Formats: sequence, C-alpha cells, structure tokens
Amino acid sequence: MRTSSRWLALMLAFALVLSAFAFTGCAAEEEPAEEPTEEPAEEPAEEPAEAEYPEFTTIEEGKLLVGSDTAFPPFESMNGDVAEGFDVDLMDAIGEKLGLEVVFMTEIFDTLIPTLKAGGKFDVIASGMTIKPERELEIDFADPYYDSNQSLVMPKGSMYNGPEDLAGKRIGVQSGTTGEAWAQENIPDATLVPFKNATEAFAAAQAGNVDAIVNDLPVSTEILKEDDRGLEIVAQIPTGEQYGFGVSKDNPGLTEAINMALAELKEEGTYAEIYEKWFGIAPPAE
Ligand code: GLN
Repeated sequence: MRTSSRWLALMLAFALVLSAFAFTGCAAEEEPAEEPTEEPAEEPAEEPAEAEYPEFTTIEEGKLLVGSDTAFPPFESMNGDVAEGFDVDLMDAIGEKLGLEVVFMTEIFDTLIPTLKAGGKFDVIASGMTIKPERELEIDFADPYYDSNQSLVMPKGSMYNGPEDLAGKRIGVQSGTTGEAWAQENIPDATLVPFKNATEAFAAAQAGNVDAIVNDLPVSTEILKEDDRGLEIVAQIPTGEQYGFGVSKDNPGLTEAINMALAELKEEGTYAEIYEKWFGIAPPAE
C-alpha cells in the first residue's frame, strides 16, 4: 500500500510538471504564431490597390493628356493659363487614383472626337460631352458623370412661347454640339450661326448678331450668373443628356480604369464634394 501510494504521488507530481511544461509550451507557441499571421494578412490587403486597375496605355508616361474645349464653365474654363472646373477637378481626382498627372489641353469642341480617334495628341476627352449613339460609333465613353439639358437664351424681355417663335431667326449654336442638333431638328427655317465655343456664341447674342442661342443649360446658367449681359434663359429644354469622358476604342483598359476610379470617388464622397463645389448643391441621387 505504502509503496503504491508513493508511486501514485510520484506519478501525480510528474504529471503536474508535464502539464506545466505543456502549458508554457502552448503559451510560448502562441505568441510567435501571431506575428506570421499578421504579416501575410497585410500584404494581400495592399496588393489589390495596385493590381486593381486594368492595363491601359497613355501617350506620355505618367501623364493623362486631356483634350477639352476650355470655354465651357463651370465644367472647364481658363483661369489665366490654368484650366479649372468640375471636369478638371474630377479628372484630377481620377488621375490621382491612377497615379497619373492630368494635363488639360485646349481644343475646339468639334475637333475633339476626330483627334482622339486619330491618336497621339491626348488620351481622354473631358469637355461636358454628351454621350450619343452616333459618337459611340467613333469613340468609347466612360460611365455618365453628369445629367444635363439644353437651354434657349434670348435678350431680356423677348417673347418666347415655343420653337415656332424662332422661325426664320438667327440662332447661335456651338459647332458639332447637341445644342446645334436640337436647333436643326426643332426650329423651323432657322438660320443657324455656328460658333467655335459658348463664349463666342454669348458674345454674339450680347452684340445682337444672333437672335437666340441654344446651349447646355448648366453652362448658360453659369455664364449669365454674375453678369447677365442683357440676356436671359427663356426656356429650359429637357433633352435628358448625360456627359461622359471619351476614350479611344483602342484603349478599353483606360475606359474601365476611369469607371473604377469614378465609382470609388462616388463611394468615398469625393464626387459629391466636387459637385457641390461647382454647382452649390448635392448631386442628384443615383
Ligand atoms: N454637351 C454638348 C455636346 O456634347 C456641348 C458640349 C460642349 O460644348 N463642350 O455636344
């Protein structure tokens, strides 16, 4: 009996020592086990940010060259020799996401699509350009980024009840724009007077060289905001247009990358901030 209980006590002590070892063994194992799990977890989290955007080409390495009719406030206008506006801020934010320096280049609106198509001068069009099926045959558009309509501008106090009132009149339009197309289709027997940009069309209306202008509503609103030049918006024309950034059909990765960047900017609120900065209101709900 005595020997067996001593034996038992010995066994018990041995078991205790063993379990103590096992315990410290476990504790010692747990700590270093944590570090390696943390490190690999960090890497994959960072990787997608770089690998996320599809491959695309740019004309100049590290730059995104942007063709734009920079006389179209508040989307793009020149402040000295610096372009500013909603499109400019939005392109800059997209460029930042893609790791590219955005450079705006002033072009005549009507030349933007053929020049982009020909290649070699700029990578993207950002110019308050409406997405239209005819244009989509020539170039690709990234997802819509702004909803727009047309407007009719006339000298203050003009009588206007409908397009028939303009029959036979001189109507100022910008060459190659949706405003020009609307005037062609809707104003009977009008003489359309084409201008290379909105600024020139407004100057002509102010000087009385045209009887009216058809132009994108947000731009007419902006141009007449501080100085009405004796002109007013006599009608809003609900054309339901959407602006999109134009990209060559040879560079589909860039269209996709812009779409991804745009979606991120919307999600994180940067798009809304830029919208409010230039339009003074929150963007419409999607
Ligand atoms: N949104 C119009 C169009 O696409 C006008 C654009 C502009 O003049 N910049 O034709």
